[in-house]
Amino acid sequence: MSDDIDSLLDLCFNGSEEELTPLFEKAFEVSRSRFSNVLALHAPGMVHYSTDFHTATDPYRFPSVSISGSGCSLSCEHCSRKLLETMIPATTPEMLWETCLKVSEKGGEGVLISGGSTPKGNTPLLDFIPTIKRVKEDLGLDVVVHTGVVYPDVAEGLGDAGVDGAMLDIIGDEATLREVYHLDLHV
Ligand code: SF4
Repeated sequence: MSDDIDSLLDLCFNGSEEELTPLFEKAFEVSRSRFSNVLALHAPGMVHYSTDFHTATDPYRFPSVSISGSGCSLSCEHCSRKLLETMIPATTPEMLWETCLKVSEKGGEGVLISGGSTPKGNTPLLDFIPTIKRVKEDLGLDVVVHTGVVYPDVAEGLGDAGVDGAMLDIIGDEATLREVYHLDLHV
């Protein structure tokens, strides 16, 4: 079995177009027999899109908020804190509440609560959890969070607060952890 998988992977990475085309056709056939033709896409709110297909018209629909402002201890190679420049800064629980209140008053659906990282690889969410819970209970907004590395107290707090989703990078390679994410952790 593992020989079969190894040779299939080898074919996928090294096969010629002629060898791969029947595989693509088979994959398309299997996909169409199991799924519909509908493709759902999400345009992240931290970037403004204006194209022939989609134009973002409501900045309050689902904005991204940074609880660390423009600060981040990691400065990853693929970001260098640039992502944070596109977010609304809310560096205290009070600022986060005011931001979410405004989103709610403007008819927004929810917020992404994100931010830069501590040297331990986590977004410093702990002090904001009571406010996140209040946003869920009093404003009814959808709340998704960027957690970074998840530590137990934050996981428990976010679960208790009732967040709708948590997003984090799954990093499967030691060199990527060190050289790209600048993290002194293990896979
Ligand atoms: S931790 Fe996040 S905000 Fe900081 S540099 Fe990396 S991707 Fe950007």
